[in-house]
Amino acid sequence: MNVAYTSPDAHASEAKSERPARPVMPAMLRGLFCRCPSCGNGKLFSGYLTSVHTCESCGEEIHHHRADDAPPYFTITVVGHIIIPALLALEVLYRPEVWVHLALWIPLTLILSLGMLRPIKGSLIGLQWALYMHGFDPEFSEELPEPDPADTLQRRK
Ligand SMILES: [Zn+2]
Repeated sequence: MNVAYTSPDAHASEAKSERPARPVMPAMLRGLFCRCPSCGNGKLFSGYLTSVHTCESCGEEIHHHRADDAPPYFTITVVGHIIIPALLALEVLYRPEVWVHLALWIPLTLILSLGMLRPIKGSLIGLQWALYMHGFDPEFSEELPEPDPADTLQRRK
């Protein structure tokens, strides 16, 4: 028996089939290395966390990203899952003085957080680019529709 498989969202994706597929993992990896998610050559950041407006290598517009609070959120999650078990293991195994904990974990937390924030933001920009999120979608418009005057009048009553 030969049954042709059609994905349930096959019809939904037909409308977007004109857009070229953007593989998510390579885009996220390019972002992780702070490179343009499109070409992998141009710089993704002009400052520590300031993204470039447009890729200097391929011209891809990067400014559309809306990483917002996601990079710190994921950074806190990852760093917390490294620091807290290590802190508890050290305490249980060796019971060091409090100053040892302070001298060890505060700098390590700062170093890990500051070191991971940028690549995590880069990979999230890569994810948004690959999924055509926000302004990376050519059909997306940031302009809000004009309010209907009749609707406004009705709400005032
Ligand atoms: Zn590029």
